[in-house]
Amino acid sequence: MRATILYGPRDIRFEECDEPKILESTDALIRIAVTCVCGSDLWPYRGLQPLDGPTPMGHEYCGVVEDVGRAVKLIKPGQFVIGSFATSDNTCPNCEYGYPSSCVHREFITRAQAPLLRVPLADGTLVPTPGIPSDDLLPSLLAASDVLGTGWFAADAANVKPGATVLVVGDGAVGLLGVLSAKQMGAERIIAMSCHAPRQKLAREFGATDIVAERGEAGVERIMDMTRGIGVDSALECVGTQESMMQAIHATRRGGSVSYVGIPHGVELDGQALFFGHVHLHGGPAPVRKYLPKLIDLVLNGKIKPGKVFDLELPLAQVAEGYRAMDERRAIKTLLRP
Ligand SMILES: [Zn+2]
Ligand SMILES: [Zn+2]
Repeated sequence: MRATILYGPRDIRFEECDEPKILESTDALIRIAVTCVCGSDLWPYRGLQPLDGPTPMGHEYCGVVEDVGRAVKLIKPGQFVIGSFATSDNTCPNCEYGYPSSCVHREFITRAQAPLLRVPLADGTLVPTPGIPSDDLLPSLLAASDVLGTGWFAADAANVKPGATVLVVGDGAVGLLGVLSAKQMGAERIIAMSCHAPRQKLAREFGATDIVAERGEAGVERIMDMTRGIGVDSALECVGTQESMMQAIHATRRGGSVSYVGIPHGVELDGQALFFGHVHLHGGPAPVRKYLPKLIDLVLNGKIKPGKVFDLELPLAQVAEGYRAMDERRAIKTLLRP
């Protein structure tokens, strides 16, 4: 089969690879229905994260189970399944505390931009849908695999409550779905920071009530003006840079909460600023597996349409163009069909 390999900065290739096989008795093999390019894939693509030689890519996936190892009890061949980018057994203490993305047996999925994928710890990692979903639901179900689950965690970790005023920093797919998640959790006012018209429009469709186009300290000032100089109850940091982290912290009221779900690149926090900022901080790799049953339900019942974040769809063989379009900000997120 052919699969996606990153060789170096902006050098993505779709080339012949060995087919994955069942290696452990707890594995499943998935025939990928749809997969996609993640914002986090752009860090190594842009050369901002060193590579250890040619690297297989892709960690967002859904599809039909082709085969399972002999220890797999809950997942069966023929089922349509969605899984997280982090595998989990769902039985260790970290899983039981609600952090399957820190499972003591965690592995990160890295080969999903391919027609066939091996998923370790299949019983803990995968969630089946009742029956095979219709084609129009696939983008939204795929979104649950990472960007929706991560946006949901951003809102949950920022303690979004009914009636809250919420700030979302970052207008990538995760930020946009952070808006959708905050709306679902009952936020009254949702301020999205974005200076790109198509993303502003989608943010409004997902529930944003205000858009702030200014960035950095000017952005913080605008948000202070909008909140009587007090700041927001909850801020969702969905980028991972120093600037976005400080925007989130500085725009949050005393006693408010800041979540951070973008993989940090060069973020350093000053102890004094944290001390006097008086905010709750919570973030990390999103425990997507914990939210999957609820998110799948919301999608299947037509309550949410997170798949709208995919504004470009390509055959998997054109994956390189999918990366390019996101790198040049011509696309928010690229969906790929094997
Ligand atoms: Zn991702
Ligand atoms: Zn675990």
